Amino acid sequence: ATPTALMVGTGRGAQLGILIKGPEVLESTRRVDTVVLDKTGTVTTGRMGLRDVVTAPGTDERDLLRRAGALEHFSEHPVARAVAAGAEERTGGLPPAEHFESVAGLGVRGLVEGHEVLVGRESLLFEAGIELPARLADALAAARAEGRTAVAVAWDKEARGVLSVADTVKATSARAVAELRALGLRPVLLTGDSAAVAGSVARAVGIDEVIAEVLPQDKVAVVRRLQGEGRTVAMVGDGVNDAAALATADLGLAMGTGTDAAMEAGDLTLVRGDLRVAADAIRLARRTLATIK
Ligand code: ADP
Ligand code: MG
Repeated sequence: ATPTALMVGTGRGAQLGILIKGPEVLESTRRVDTVVLDKTGTVTTGRMGLRDVVTAPGTDERDLLRRAGALEHFSEHPVARAVAAGAEERTGGLPPAEHFESVAGLGVRGLVEGHEVLVGRESLLFEAGIELPARLADALAAARAEGRTAVAVAWDKEARGVLSVADTVKATSARAVAELRALGLRPVLLTGDSAAVAGSVARAVGIDEVIAEVLPQDKVAVVRRLQGEGRTVAMVGDGVNDAAALATADLGLAMGTGTDAAMEAGDLTLVRGDLRVAADAIRLARRTLATIK
C-alpha cells in the first residue's frame, strides 16, 4: 500500500467525521465482515429519562427516589444519570452519600442517611442475599416488556422498589444497520441490558442477532468467540465498559459522544456519534485500498 494513498484516505476520513488513529487502520477496516454494536449510547441515544416508580409495600416513594438518586448522582452511567436527575426533580433535592462504589455492568452501592443502599440489576441484589417480592419482580418484567430498562433498589438487606428509565433509539440507527447489511456485513447487538429490552431495540433497527445480559468483562469473550469462528470483527461502542472489547476487536470504532476510555481503546472515532458513519468508514477503507491495489 502506498503511504500517500493511505494519507489521502485518512484526510478524507476527517472530512466525513472519522478520526483515524493511523493510516494502517484502513487495512483492517477493509476485511471486516461482522459489526458488533453496543446498545446504550451507540444504537440508542443513551439520554434516558426516569419513568415509572414502583415501591415495595411499606416503602415511601420519596425515600426511594432520594436514596437511589443520592447514590446514582456519583455514577456516569446513562441509567444513573436518568435516575439522579429524575429523583432530584421529583423530590426537590438529594441527600449526601458516602462510600460510593460502582459495580461494572450491575449497578452501584453506598451509604445514604445511614442505610446501606443498592441500585441496579437484580443480580446485584441477589448477590447480597436480597430477594424480590412478587410486586417488584412483576414491575421489572412489565417495564422490560415495554422496552424500558428497569433497576431495583434495596436498603438494609430488603428490596424497596423498582425504577424504570427509557432511552430512545437514534433516528439514524435503522438506516445505519441497513447500510451495514448492504455492505455485506453481519450486525450483532451486544448489551449488558436485559434480553427483553435488547430485543425491542433490535427489532426497531432491524438486527436479528442479539447477545444480551453480558457483563462488561465478558464483552471481550463475545468478540473472541466470533473471531474464533473465523470472522473479522468490528466493534462499535461508547462506554468505559466497551473499552476492552474495542481493543480486542479487529477494528474498534468509538462514538465521539462517548467516554474517553472508549476513544482511547478504539482505532477510529466517529466524531458525531452517528452510526451511519461506521458504514462510511468501511466504504472509505475499501475504496482507498482499491485505488492502491
Ligand atoms: P450496555 O452494554 O447496553 O451499554 P451496561 O453494560 O453499561 O449496558 O449496563 C447493563 C445494565 O446494568 C444496565 O442496563 C442497568 O440495568 C445496569 N446498570 C449498570 N450500571 C448501573 C447504574 N449505575 N445504576 C443502575 N443500573 C446500572
Ligand atoms: Mg454503551
